Amino acid sequence: MMKSLKWRMVTIYVFLVLIVMIVSGTLIVIRISSNAYKEIEDSLKRSISTSMETIGESNTKEQAIEKWKNAITEYRDSERRLYLLDTKGRVIFSDGDIVKEIYYTPMVKAAINDSNIKEFDKIYEINKDEKKEYLGYAQPIKVKEEVIGVVYMLAPSGQIKINLFSTIKVIIIAIILAIILSVIFGIMFSNFLTKPIIALSDKAREMSQGDLDNTIEVLSDDEIGELTKNFNIMAKELNHNLVEISSEKNKLETVFTHMTDGILVFDSDGVLIHSNPATESFLTLEHKSTFSEIFCDYLDMSYKQLLSYIKSEIRQHIIQIDEKYVNLCFAAHLDQHENIMGSICVIQDITEHKKLEEMQKEFVANVSHELRTPLTTIKSYAETLLDGAMDDRQITTDFLKVINHESDRMTALVQDLLELSRLDNKQTKFRTQCISLSHILEGSISKYQIHAKKKNQTMIYNATENEYKIIGDSNRIEQVIKNIISNAVKYSNEGATININLYEESSFVVALIEDTGMGIPKEDLTRIFDRFYRVDKARSRAMGGTGLGLAIAKEIMDYHGGHIKVTSEVGVGTCFYLYFPIVN
Ligand code: ADP
Repeated sequence: MMKSLKWRMVTIYVFLVLIVMIVSGTLIVIRISSNAYKEIEDSLKRSISTSMETIGESNTKEQAIEKWKNAITEYRDSERRLYLLDTKGRVIFSDGDIVKEIYYTPMVKAAINDSNIKEFDKIYEINKDEKKEYLGYAQPIKVKEEVIGVVYMLAPSGQIKINLFSTIKVIIIAIILAIILSVIFGIMFSNFLTKPIIALSDKAREMSQGDLDNTIEVLSDDEIGELTKNFNIMAKELNHNLVEISSEKNKLETVFTHMTDGILVFDSDGVLIHSNPATESFLTLEHKSTFSEIFCDYLDMSYKQLLSYIKSEIRQHIIQIDEKYVNLCFAAHLDQHENIMGSICVIQDITEHKKLEEMQKEFVANVSHELRTPLTTIKSYAETLLDGAMDDRQITTDFLKVINHESDRMTALVQDLLELSRLDNKQTKFRTQCISLSHILEGSISKYQIHAKKKNQTMIYNATENEYKIIGDSNRIEQVIKNIISNAVKYSNEGATININLYEESSFVVALIEDTGMGIPKEDLTRIFDRFYRVDKARSRAMGGTGLGLAIAKEIMDYHGGHIKVTSEVGVGTCFYLYFPIVN
């Protein structure tokens, strides 16, 4: 491309030089030739006029002819010919060889008629191979104003052509030289012009291969220099924009790579073109490369149908993949003309959300159930009393005791529920201060010693000298400890031992409540902190439990930056560990 531009410039340059040389050469040749002819013509005119003046006027025709014959005889010129012609153009006398017998040429005719013409005769003498050219000039010979003959002079003009040929040769040589020089200078000139263009082209090629850092040297101050400057500015801007775009792309890639939601990108034919690592945690993409292959087990629609749905709005589907609940969110991927280029699918794990939903449902069902049981008891006892049992004082007293007990249970349940609700909504006011954990533990133990004794149980507190200061709300912490100790008493049979210890572990103070009670089965261990979860419902209810105590305890421990741990073995006993952060 560049090469052709260069050679095109050289060709134009040579062509222009050629035209100038040919035109000027032609003009020179024409000028030289006309000057040379003019010179001969003037010389012919002068020679005959001089002869005319020398001969002078004659009185008779014979005298005039005689005088001219003498003059012609005396006229000696090796090159020129002088003739005396009659009024018919026939040669009467000549100074040498007669080239032609009759010269009835336009010039001679004009002289016979005593008129003037500008054009001189051109006479050719052909001898073997040679062709000689002469210029002929005629003047009338007059006697008493009457033309009696014509004097005719021929001068050779062949030399003019020979001279012209040599001039033309010189001009041709000049043209050839000019062409050679114009080719050389044309190449140099076009090199000079095309060098920055070639540099620009090379740079553009480098740019297309991704190298945008180098600039092109500005070699001239003209339009090409301006173009180079603008090109450098463009490359700089492009580089800047590319750096920004690639950094944006990197950011997006990082987000895609590290986000926990899965991302799948399909083209307009449903072929998978991009997926992030998180997708693998939801779906197996091995050997699957299209929408239908990936979702055939989960969705009942074709890719075309999906595209028509998502053209106007985002489409969501909740599917179950093994244990997980997954929300698939499909959106269209449009170009600048709003044409669908493909689709994007965001895969969100909503298992937790689903579980929460389930838990909420379960919770409502549990609350209703827990309230219905005492309510049914109260209602049936009240109805029995109203049906006539009221007359019997003993029965009335017994029934009212039951109604009172059930009401207490309901009150306890509602209080626990309110407490949990306040903890959930962060409405519980904690009065935190620096408190002694050993004091709280001792207080709680002394309150439950009576209950333990009633069941013939031994409660041992291995007191330490250290007070173990913690930051917290003493009432709430006492509530937690009481709940754990009361459970130990409740769920241990007669004669059991309850050991309570306080010690330090890592950065925590640990209160360990250990009993030799019935224990908790392994499969229930993770669930006992759930609301309303009870291993043995009947026993718990009989003991006045609501199934909310450990859930509240967990919430309170979480608030204090601590946690509860439980280990247990059925028939051997249970250990509850309460971890409180140490205050330094
Ligand atoms: P409840 O009001 O029923 O005692 P909690 O939330 O305090 O409710 O306890 C939940 C369940 O955990 C209890 O119903 C019981 O089955 C079990 N549990 C709690 N503590 C013990 C323990 N020390 N030994 C055996 N089982 C226990």
